Amino acid sequence: MLKLQNMGLLVLAAAIPLIAVLPLPDFWITQLNYIGMYSMTVLGLVLLTGVGGLTSFGQAAFVGIGAYTTAWLTLNTGLSPWLTLFVGIGLTAASALVVGLITLRMSGHYLPLATIAWGLSLYYLMGNLDALGKYDGLLGIQSLSIGDFDLGQGRPFFVLTWVLLLAFAAGMLHLLDSRAGRAIRALKGGSQMAEAMGISTLRYKVTIFVLAAVLASVAGWLLAHFQRTVNPSAFGLKMGIEYLFMAVVGGVGHVWGAIVGAGLIRVLEDQLQVLLPKLIGTSGSYEVIVFGITLVMVLKYLPEGLWSLVGRHMPKRPRPVDWIHAAALPERPKPATNDLVLDVQAIRKEFGGLVAVNDIGFQIRAGQIVGLIGPNGAGKSTTFNLITGVLAATSGGVVFQGEAIAGKASREIARLGLARTFQHVKMIPEMTVLENVALGAHTRGHKGVLPAMLRANRQEEQRLFREAQRQLERIGMGEYLHELAGNLAMGPQRLMEIARALCVDPVLLLLDEPAAGLRHQEKQALADVLRQLKNEGMSILLVEHDMDLVMQICDHLVVMEFGTLLTQGPPAQVQQDPKVRAAYLGTEH
Ligand code: ADP
Ligand code: MG
Repeated sequence: MLKLQNMGLLVLAAAIPLIAVLPLPDFWITQLNYIGMYSMTVLGLVLLTGVGGLTSFGQAAFVGIGAYTTAWLTLNTGLSPWLTLFVGIGLTAASALVVGLITLRMSGHYLPLATIAWGLSLYYLMGNLDALGKYDGLLGIQSLSIGDFDLGQGRPFFVLTWVLLLAFAAGMLHLLDSRAGRAIRALKGGSQMAEAMGISTLRYKVTIFVLAAVLASVAGWLLAHFQRTVNPSAFGLKMGIEYLFMAVVGGVGHVWGAIVGAGLIRVLEDQLQVLLPKLIGTSGSYEVIVFGITLVMVLKYLPEGLWSLVGRHMPKRPRPVDWIHAAALPERPKPATNDLVLDVQAIRKEFGGLVAVNDIGFQIRAGQIVGLIGPNGAGKSTTFNLITGVLAATSGGVVFQGEAIAGKASREIARLGLARTFQHVKMIPEMTVLENVALGAHTRGHKGVLPAMLRANRQEEQRLFREAQRQLERIGMGEYLHELAGNLAMGPQRLMEIARALCVDPVLLLLDEPAAGLRHQEKQALADVLRQLKNEGMSILLVEHDMDLVMQICDHLVVMEFGTLLTQGPPAQVQQDPKVRAAYLGTEH
């Protein structure tokens, strides 16, 4: 897959000089110039919406900030456009940061709505400020030039725009294939899993929002100097919707989809404006109707956009394994056998009137496997969520290696060395097993977005992949490295989650019903893995329904019923307890 992306970059890199010297009509060069500028904004949307799952109708407003900033500054202060580009980027980034920090905390439909409001207000602001020429805009903006060489029109502008676009596309591909990129790709599936791996999802959401805005801003800078005039209509809500439309049609999850979508819509719009009035006999913006229908068709029949038609036929090669000699990641100090690792102290959770967890207390010592069992609805998952910081306790405390963790966010708890899996497997199906597992090692790396885009993260990436491979091999998943996670059966999926949790370099592993949905053989394989981990000194809290499994491997059992602690002790003793038998026989057969 990687080689292929590089191939795309090479093709584009070869096409730019070729197109520049070919005797194409000027009309098509102009079209390509617009396509290049639009693609830049749409590229940001691919990252934000397609990869990150955050919908924005407000990208045109960011294009506007870039365009108006350079227009006003070059007209009024005489600053060079090459400087005002960076002023524009700064202003855009600052405003995106503010809008992002306010809106990205909210979930669901707030972001699209907020970006609509943002787009509208900026449109009216641009249209009503005297200094910005109101709805007439600003005229007489200078063309881009280096010395006496005019870069601002035709072929030179084409080369400038497309070289910039190529650089951004390369940066984006590199970003998506990196530590930061994997975190960004994890955003779409909800934040719970990423947070449990110690990732601050808000931080990555804000980052991609700002990055997408900056791409739009650079496009606005180009547009202002290309058209040599700016007015609000190019930056309003209609344009904001059109950008999103381009992204969806092209293939909102793929970098190359941005160019396909922008190109198609631009050409279509142009042809339809000529063709439709001839067909219908009157003029008007009828192309909007054709766009609407196209969008519905694409969403229905090609939800991954047009690029998926091409991408699907391209051969996918496994990632070359170049990390065999990479240095091992540092590991945190581990407790000595029998040290107290986790101390749950009279923890309580009430949901309204329901006491889901009623003053439960138990301890886990290093090297132990403790089973938390009980009939359905007993409060096991809730207890688990209280320990991992997914839920806040009503009262009581949790002490992990001497540190009180009740009330901390789940990503902070993960960073302390408490790693978990999920009752319902949470993974990124379109990433390979190796990449999914590398997500667990996120907090053990440091390289952010910029080093990733510039490919200055290779050493760290190799170390992360080496660790991911090591953990997969540790639990016998060595032959699945390059498999897409979505293609795995339930058993390997659950083992993959355990490998991912092991990448956190945990002191304590929390497994929520790891045997649920497994066949007998898979259960035995799981039991072997857990026993092996225990022999290696790992401490494990196992929430499990399967009594056989629990009896086989646990050192200590905590039994809950209706939120209350029924009993706890060694498995043999618990098994003989009449209360436990009654609880299980009463609710299960
Ligand atoms: P278990 O994992 O042992 O099957 P849970 O911890 O999921 O049990 O649930 C314990 C009790 O708490 C159940 O009665 C369940 O309906 C209730 N419960 C769990 N989560 C919530 C919630 N978010 N809001 C209200 N009630 C909940
Ligand atoms: Mg449960």
